[in-house]
Amino acid sequence: AVPFPSSEAAVSSASSASAPAAPGPLPVLGLDVRAPLVTGGELPYAALDYAASAPVLRSVWDDVAAYAPYYGSVHRGAGYLSQRSTAVFEESRAAVARFLGCREDDEVLFTRSTTDSLNLLASALPSGTRVFVFETEHHASLLPWRGPGLRTVHLDAPRSPEQAVATLERALAEAPEGPKLVCVTGASNVTGEVWPVRRLARAAHRHGARIVLDAAQLVPHRPVDIGELDVDWVAFSGHKLYAPFGAGVLAGRTDWLHAAEPYLAGGGASRTVARSADGGVEVEWQSGPARHEAGSPNVIGAYALASACRALTEAGFDDVAARERRLTERLLAGLGELPQVRVLSLFGADGDAAGDGTDAGRSGNAEDAAGAAARHRVGVVSFVVEGWNSSHLAAALSAEYGIGVRDGLFCAHPLLAALLGAGRGASGECGAPEGGSLNAVRVSIGAGTPDEH
Ligand code: PLP
Repeated sequence: AVPFPSSEAAVSSASSASAPAAPGPLPVLGLDVRAPLVTGGELPYAALDYAASAPVLRSVWDDVAAYAPYYGSVHRGAGYLSQRSTAVFEESRAAVARFLGCREDDEVLFTRSTTDSLNLLASALPSGTRVFVFETEHHASLLPWRGPGLRTVHLDAPRSPEQAVATLERALAEAPEGPKLVCVTGASNVTGEVWPVRRLARAAHRHGARIVLDAAQLVPHRPVDIGELDVDWVAFSGHKLYAPFGAGVLAGRTDWLHAAEPYLAGGGASRTVARSADGGVEVEWQSGPARHEAGSPNVIGAYALASACRALTEAGFDDVAARERRLTERLLAGLGELPQVRVLSLFGADGDAAGDGTDAGRSGNAEDAAGAAARHRVGVVSFVVEGWNSSHLAAALSAEYGIGVRDGLFCAHPLLAALLGAGRGASGECGAPEGGSLNAVRVSIGAGTPDEH
């Protein structure tokens, strides 16, 4: 095996001021991800794990570096630095609202991540809410709805977009009166398949339910317009969108959010706090975004996330999607030539029917299987290789070829069980399970994936 630089070597090379800039791929569509992270190795590094976390764009680092000298508290000071930081924070909120096409009365909350956003929403649901969720969801969208006063209705894995809509329609029609929420992914983090979001939203609203879109895997690849998709909330994470870790978004309707107790209790969320007649403390909570953003906010994270939103908008989602589709098609065609490889797909050939606006265009020409499969996917492909443990395969790809992929169950255990035919109740950790065969290899591409090798 050819040695690959240890992570210590990579980090020390990254932190050395004299380290040469990485000879990475040239920026595509103006999206420059040439982070000087892995230099000096004997192998060029192929980062194919964008679905986990994407490298931070140069333009985002540059924006953050330009802002950093003006770092100050947000909504907490009269001084210049505080004022400037407050403006940066609120302008970032407005930029995210534009990016998502928010309606007039929507609100953007800054959170830590998609997981945090969905847990926040779960904490704000009216008591008695029934939450409808497909078993195929990432654990971040599958699990937050287990709190007191909530009921989760788990829907079986659909085998086509039509079946997804029909399954949801049936479950909602059978549900008793009361508040209902549907939580659905925009694009699967395992199969990359795009879900029929607009049709699911229509079904939800027809039955008086609301719908939240887990857009963690969709936002880096497709335009997500909250009004056009007609979803009530959208959740996503900055670190999958070429921004650093630590910032996420929940955007959408305000009524349930403003009626709920704050997600976190503390300074910033409280408007007034006074001793009460009974000797305790009485609190009047804020009603805007501040209600659920207690504590000093992550202004750098919000600013970086907004900067990434701007960069993607400038790059143009049509071009981003077209380029990714080309690369995904090539990947699928290559994998298709290997007889032992099985690419994981929930919808199979029927996935094409997902096209409802989240799928960015079709050619209409007769195309081969790889072309058709790429069309209804974002740049995320998982596969298994007959006779191979996927974790060993991923380790070999890294050690011998410098290819960084993800292996394991991808925080979607029931989905992997459905795809790999292992029945219900898959066990194992969120990452790679010990020696288990119920795992797969995931390749995911993004702006830094070169067109040619
Ligand atoms: N939803 C989907 C579809 C994801 O792929 C992920 C992360 O992989 C998440 C939610 C959770 O995102 P985060 O870990 O940033 O909270």
